[in-house]
Amino acid sequence: MTQTKKDIRTLTKEQLRAFFVEQGDKPFRGNQVYEWLWQKSAHNFEDMTSISKQTRQMLDDNFVINHIEVDNMQRSSDGTIKNAVRLHDGLIVESVLIPTKTRTTACVSSQVGCSLDCKFCATSRLKRMRNLNPDEIYDQVVAIDKESRLYHNRPLSNIVFMGMGEPLMNYNNVLKAIDKITSPEGLGMSPKRIVVSTSGVPKMIRKLADDEVKFNLAVSLHSAIQEKREKIMPFAKQFTLTDLKDSLIYWYEKTNKRITYEYVVWKGINDKDEDIKALIEFCKAAPSKVNLIEYNPIDDGEFQQADDDAIDRYITGLEANRIPVTIRRSRGKDIDAACGQLANKS
Ligand code: SF4
Repeated sequence: MTQTKKDIRTLTKEQLRAFFVEQGDKPFRGNQVYEWLWQKSAHNFEDMTSISKQTRQMLDDNFVINHIEVDNMQRSSDGTIKNAVRLHDGLIVESVLIPTKTRTTACVSSQVGCSLDCKFCATSRLKRMRNLNPDEIYDQVVAIDKESRLYHNRPLSNIVFMGMGEPLMNYNNVLKAIDKITSPEGLGMSPKRIVVSTSGVPKMIRKLADDEVKFNLAVSLHSAIQEKREKIMPFAKQFTLTDLKDSLIYWYEKTNKRITYEYVVWKGINDKDEDIKALIEFCKAAPSKVNLIEYNPIDDGEFQQADDDAIDRYITGLEANRIPVTIRRSRGKDIDAACGQLANKS
């Protein structure tokens, strides 16, 4: 019978140290291997050149290092890069590098497929197969950082959890990955440069606040009218706007961090004055800003980007109420890398 070897990256540093003590070695050896696994992103024990050959062999006899492979990389004319990422079990997710003048942002996936059903989103058509492990999330960031250095001559500056999946439905693994990304023993990135974007799971937003996380929170809102939001994002029947609003007030009270609302304006769906009024009221609950996102149709035509006039009315209304608003132009449209377009088509 073949015995499956354990993925060494599921071990904490303490567990690795204990493993080496059990082997009659020094605990310090665990630190060295940990550094190779995370800071140096070694994919083979062979690569751990500061460790003796005998020890590397012993590790190889006991463990594997599961890691991702970038299966297909596509580059957009605007510099955006989309990676189709193959996981150790052959499943595929996508992650995107978005360069602007001042920053390079990694948009990473947290699940294979998605358990939610947002009507406008290509990923919702893929069945949720499984959650990503912390190392699979971490590896996406490492791969994009390498591409950023190679193609844009600068390291990655920001990360958004806005790829495939609902990050708060994979809470523990997303938080473990962020721990590694922000740790000096990992990538050492500031949590201030990380945004976790949720479709709005109130219970988990409260948990984030209780866990005193240091990263930023964005919510894909798209409508502040309950019946409309249910049509756009059917799971909103379960996670109501009232409950969502309460959880966001709780988030702000605990973290003192302003919330970003991601918001797409669609023609005939949420482009009326009543929609703008409802959004303004919702925003008043806790300090927030609104990111109006340009929409990329995913093919069947039900959702279409609203006219400029509707966008202008949103901006005027929000600004009149001193609610900061920005417009995010979509990037990477020619390679289906824009928001809501990730669907393993490559
Ligand atoms: S928008 Fe996000 S939460 Fe909604 S279906 Fe798509 S991936 Fe899932």
